[in-house]
Amino acid sequence: MHQKPDGDAMGSTLALFHFLNKLGHSCTVISPTNWANFLNWMPGSKKVIDYEAKQSSADELIAAADWIFCLDFNILSRTKRMESALLAAKGQRILIDHHREPQTEMFAYGNSSITKSSTAEMVYDLIVDSGNGDLIDATIGECLYAGVMTDTGSFRFTSTTANVHLMVSDLMQKGLEHSHVHEELFDNFLESRYRFIGHVLLNRMEVFYQYNTALISIPQADLIKYSVKTGDTEGLVNYALGIQGIKLAAIIIDRGEERKSSFRSKGDFDVNSFARKYFNGGGHFNAAGGFNKEPLEEVIIKFKAAIKENKDQLSSY
Ligand code: 5GP
Ligand code: MN
Repeated sequence: MHQKPDGDAMGSTLALFHFLNKLGHSCTVISPTNWANFLNWMPGSKKVIDYEAKQSSADELIAAADWIFCLDFNILSRTKRMESALLAAKGQRILIDHHREPQTEMFAYGNSSITKSSTAEMVYDLIVDSGNGDLIDATIGECLYAGVMTDTGSFRFTSTTANVHLMVSDLMQKGLEHSHVHEELFDNFLESRYRFIGHVLLNRMEVFYQYNTALISIPQADLIKYSVKTGDTEGLVNYALGIQGIKLAAIIIDRGEERKSSFRSKGDFDVNSFARKYFNGGGHFNAAGGFNKEPLEEVIIKFKAAIKENKDQLSSY
């Protein structure tokens, strides 16, 4: 899965893990980095290896693997420090992903489809199309549901096809308790996170009405002051996107080692291209991300220049 895994990365990978175990395979799940606490309820999450915390044993597992499934990312650099181990591995790499512009030459097999709502949906298809739908149980169902629910913005994005709802129906028939998943993911934060959000919306958000754009920028000092943990900033960018008339929303967070950005858009503004062009990133048409090595102030200047450059597209709404 990709670094700082979200609900879909963790959910799809753990679902595949449980499925492969049921088929009698021996497998290990490795995350390139740590992840948000709100994913720790997921069945199997306690067995996931954090590459940064246990690099030497993870490197041995990668080197010894016959098959390496790469889920919810399509360029190896999305695994950060794990990239060199993946490149050196003798096992074949298999891609299961729904992002744009895959690095196809890096994978021996796989499925890459931008029409899919989530990697979780693709793992579901893999299980069903391989004739093993009857192996899906409540455990696999919870993992798949967490992935598809988070990546579709709780079933609101246009990627939520009729087939997504049919899949959820099937998961429910196989024992999924969906409200439990929502509670674990959305009603499980510390007070400090909400204090932090209040501060950010009041003091760190700029709205550029002439470009239908809103930007949230967060200095590292804020993360320290509010004890912000991995995952606490997830979804924050959506507050900016929810402002009436806003077409492009961005968040740039100073994480110390890099400035991490997230972009969201409504309608015809392509943030995948925007993230690729200015922020070393990529993703989907309406949701993408990137990173920069320059100081936060410089990245903000870069962002302001970039929206000016895209003025024609942004100002028409
Ligand atoms: P988020 O903003 O939630 O981190 O990511 C939005 C989407 O863009 C996700 O599908 C994610 O995988 C992708 N994405 C985020 N950051 C990067 C990045 O630095 N590079 C690339 N290629 N994709 C990214
Ligand atoms: Mn995904």
